[in-house]
Amino acid sequence: MQTINSLSPYNPFYDPLLDDNPGTGINYAPSYWCDTAGEPPENDGPVTSDLDVDVAIIGGGFTGLATAMFLAQEHGINATVLEANQVGWGCTSRNGGQGHLVWGRLSRSQWVKRWGVEMARQLHDNTLQGFEIFQQLTEHPLIDCEPYGHGNLLIAHSKAALRGLKTESRLCNEILSYKTRVLNHAEVKSDYLDDRECKGAMLEPVGIAIHPLKLAYGYSNIARSSGAKVHPSSPVLEWKQKNNIHYLHTPGGIVRARSVAIATAGYTSANLHPLTAFRNMPIMANSVVTRILTDEEIAACKLNTHLLITDTRKLRHYYRFLPDKRLQIGTRSAISGKDAQNPKNLKVVQDAIARKFPILKGIETPWFWHGWMDISHDMMPRIIQPDPSQQIFYSQGYSGNGVSFSAYASFKLAELIAGKPGQKNDLPIFTSPLPKHALQPFRRLGQHLLYSYYKHYDKFR
Ligand SMILES: Cc1cc2nc3c(=O)[nH]c(=O)nc-3n(C[C@H](O)[C@H](O)[C@H](O)COP(=O)(O)OP(=O)(O)OC[C@H]3O[C@@H](n4cnc5c(N)ncnc54)[C@H](O)[C@@H]3O)c2cc1C
Repeated sequence: MQTINSLSPYNPFYDPLLDDNPGTGINYAPSYWCDTAGEPPENDGPVTSDLDVDVAIIGGGFTGLATAMFLAQEHGINATVLEANQVGWGCTSRNGGQGHLVWGRLSRSQWVKRWGVEMARQLHDNTLQGFEIFQQLTEHPLIDCEPYGHGNLLIAHSKAALRGLKTESRLCNEILSYKTRVLNHAEVKSDYLDDRECKGAMLEPVGIAIHPLKLAYGYSNIARSSGAKVHPSSPVLEWKQKNNIHYLHTPGGIVRARSVAIATAGYTSANLHPLTAFRNMPIMANSVVTRILTDEEIAACKLNTHLLITDTRKLRHYYRFLPDKRLQIGTRSAISGKDAQNPKNLKVVQDAIARKFPILKGIETPWFWHGWMDISHDMMPRIIQPDPSQQIFYSQGYSGNGVSFSAYASFKLAELIAGKPGQKNDLPIFTSPLPKHALQPFRRLGQHLLYSYYKHYDKFR
């Protein structure tokens, strides 16, 4: 078992577009979740000799751990998880803990536009079934992830955005039979919170907030007690294939596997495997957690809800009033790793707090961290065996919405790996690999231009 004492210091400047891999045995990002999750679960220590395994899973976040858990529990397959750093080290320990009813980043009206009403209905029905898998896990007796709240509040930051929410809500209610409600500003203020930017909101009935790292610890414990192995500090540095065997080179030994699942999300390096190279755009998001709010501050902000909250900006803010009376809030951050510590990133979040809740202007934010999300180039995730002649599988492209989706994705990924594809595998998340970007080398330049446009758009619309 590897302990925290033997770890290398956290490197905030890591950049998935430039660096070969996310390191070896590096400490967690300085998130609130790491400080409040308790002792990390037991693990099987780094790989220290060559191993022969049936299934190797690269990446030990929600996806890798839950896939190992489902492989063991549903299919009797004991997988070996190879994690470069620690259990849940990537986005899994850095997110907002918002379990949404979404797949990828498209709205339901965008599903209708892209695939038509019938497919949108199928997608929606399947998101509900997928969410049930997540919900059951959050209530599992061996998982102590503090689930609470039932619903999701989408706050309109402008009148135009509120008109958009009204249209979206009508589509949800009338076409998908998903009973959402539009609230006017006064209703939001009296029943939920007084966000001074709020022009109204859409309330969705589904959504669960959780402690993400405790959830990951739970997945890891169940996976291991069901027969899986979890090896931290074991990055796959090189990958060779010969006679249908995969040779995964880690610093401590070569892992020979018949099947490999890639669960590296926004931390996927271009040189890991050609099937995943350049299929995601790693985008940095950040978060702060404030000190405990006083009763006076809570009353002034009318914070009367623990629901998931997101605003409608293109560069959106996502936030929650945590059970211990702190505010958690985050947004998009720097474009490159080298700019990650630039004070202007923190200022963007602090300015948002001051605009939304003036009494909290200048409040101490003892926690500030960031992570790299895996944004799919068509905003939809994939769970797939991209080349049927190779025993390689991946689930990626969650586009910033992986807390709940990863539970369903792992369940389906385990089915594919076990060779027992279940129901509804004709949905667009299963039928094609993640698309590449046509102008791959210029993606960062495009991101600069897009962020400038989004800032302008968010201000004036
Ligand atoms: C600031 C922030 C806020 C977010 N908020 C939310 C939210 O509120 N709700 C929501 O739904 N989603 C949110 N997300 C997204 C969500 O956290 C992710 O979608 C989810 O955690 C992805 O899980 P994963 O297991 O697929 O990947 P990750 O948790 O990123 O894990 C990938 C792992 O792969 C490992 N790895 C990479 N390369 C190798 C290698 N070569 N060998 C071995 N291991 C390797 C990495 O070390 C890493 O631990 C947020 C993300 C960020 C950054």
